[in-house]
Amino acid sequence: MAIKTFPEYLESLRKLKPTAYMFGARVENVVDNPRIRGGINSTGATYELANLEKYRDLLTTISPFTGERINRFTLPPQSIEDLVARVKINRILGAYVGTCHQRCTGLDCLSALSIVTFDLDQKYGTHYYDRFLEFLQYMQKNDFTANASVTDVKGDRSLNPHEQPDKDLYLRVVDKQKKGIVVRGAKGHQTGSLSSHELIVLPTRALGKGDEEYAVALAIPSDTQGVIHVVGRNSLDTRELEGVDCGNIRYSKYCPTVIYNDVFVPWERVFMCGEVDFSGELVNRFSAFHRQSHGGCKSGKIDVMTGAALLMMDYNGSAKVTHLREKIVDMIHKAETLYGCSLAASYEGKKEPSGTYFINSVLANASKIHEGRDMAESIRLLIDITGGYVADLPSDRDFQNPEIGGLLKKYLQGAAGIPVEDRVKMLRLVEKLAMESADTISDLHGGGSPAAHRVTIMRESDVESRKKSAKRLAGIE
Ligand SMILES: Cc1cc2nc3c(=O)[nH]c(=O)nc-3n(C[C@H](O)[C@H](O)[C@H](O)COP(=O)(O)OP(=O)(O)OC[C@H]3O[C@@H](n4cnc5c(N)ncnc54)[C@H](O)[C@@H]3O)c2cc1C
Repeated sequence: MAIKTFPEYLESLRKLKPTAYMFGARVENVVDNPRIRGGINSTGATYELANLEKYRDLLTTISPFTGERINRFTLPPQSIEDLVARVKINRILGAYVGTCHQRCTGLDCLSALSIVTFDLDQKYGTHYYDRFLEFLQYMQKNDFTANASVTDVKGDRSLNPHEQPDKDLYLRVVDKQKKGIVVRGAKGHQTGSLSSHELIVLPTRALGKGDEEYAVALAIPSDTQGVIHVVGRNSLDTRELEGVDCGNIRYSKYCPTVIYNDVFVPWERVFMCGEVDFSGELVNRFSAFHRQSHGGCKSGKIDVMTGAALLMMDYNGSAKVTHLREKIVDMIHKAETLYGCSLAASYEGKKEPSGTYFINSVLANASKIHEGRDMAESIRLLIDITGGYVADLPSDRDFQNPEIGGLLKKYLQGAAGIPVEDRVKMLRLVEKLAMESADTISDLHGGGSPAAHRVTIMRESDVESRKKSAKRLAGIE
């Protein structure tokens, strides 16, 4: 069955045996670990919604590669309609899980590879595209999730990969064998790596002469020998482990550091090896797709933040306050701006030689710049509207305490007729929406730092035609 249900997705993850660590100890049962499970549930929503009548037509489609119905998270876009669907799906999912659903990164890697492996073969007569298509069909037939292993740990940012005193600070090929290659390195911030069946490795930056061993793209199962996932801290992580005061009852996000400790990769899973001139192309395509993805899911997150803000106004008795209603308009306006840029990037997309459609990268980057600023501003508005208890609400355990619980319920009441429990739950959700570090920091750095978005806009915008327009109006020949 090409489309998995949520329970089937969970079962498929249980079959994997990844090497994972958290808080200094080995995690043997990844799927039932409460810290990781919130992230798995988030990705699970992409399976859950694909099986609901209401969303089936949007989240699934027929693959031109397998002829079967597939989840769209395994399909590089084949039309403008596919590009648009990506944004719509991400918005729905962003609002559904209230955090990052963590499945777009893998699709963004598949989409970039579907363009660049084809172009690489045209130039060098290699066979990367055929290998890629084999892998793509495997992903589609099994409805698998992939993670994006792109960001190297990078060491000294002023040095190129081969100039680093420690050569492994960018992932590289340390051995080439008859049946495959061996890679070593580490990738940071690996969103949902343990919720993924496969890890897709791409270079993190453009590379030049001397960096050939770093120009590598590949895919391997997330439990391959030598791969070590180290789950990092998140602002609310111990609450998930304790099962209390989580705010969002089901979904969250985690981003391990993933170490590739001399990992063997068979040739059939290698999609680039040494072609430095295509590294920049690969990372640019990935980043542009990923920045477009963010415009969808983050507008969905602002939708649910707006809902929480409106409910807090109801619960606080401030629903009619004019300056708060204006702030709601600001939040909606920010969501629609992100969404609009991402949709525009889709409608202005173009077909590439491989047949994959690529988005308008300037518009996708414009969306990402809005995201960096507008998500932070939306969080500020949400906290302003909600009030100070976003910061220091007593624990649910205090509300349940027989000695002080009654007093807390008395003093934390809001508008008449609103159960105090609902007000407390909503305050806690607002805290999560505003403070979940793994999600809110990705508003700024996910898909590259803000400077990277600006560089792309400058590089890919037609500045000459703008100068020409100004000269014509000024009467300059
Ligand atoms: C929550 C979260 C989730 C993420 N998920 C993923 C994921 O799933 N997969 C993945 O591969 N990556 C992921 N990332 C990584 C993300 O792409 C990087 O954080 C981002 O590219 C910035 O890299 P960095 O963190 O190493 O910071 P740095 O690159 O060190 O950047 C820090 C600052 O220094 C500037 N800077 C650095 N070097 C230079 C230079 N040479 N010249 C000029 N300015 C420079 C940057 O512009 C930035 O302002 C995620 C990040 C976060 C925070």
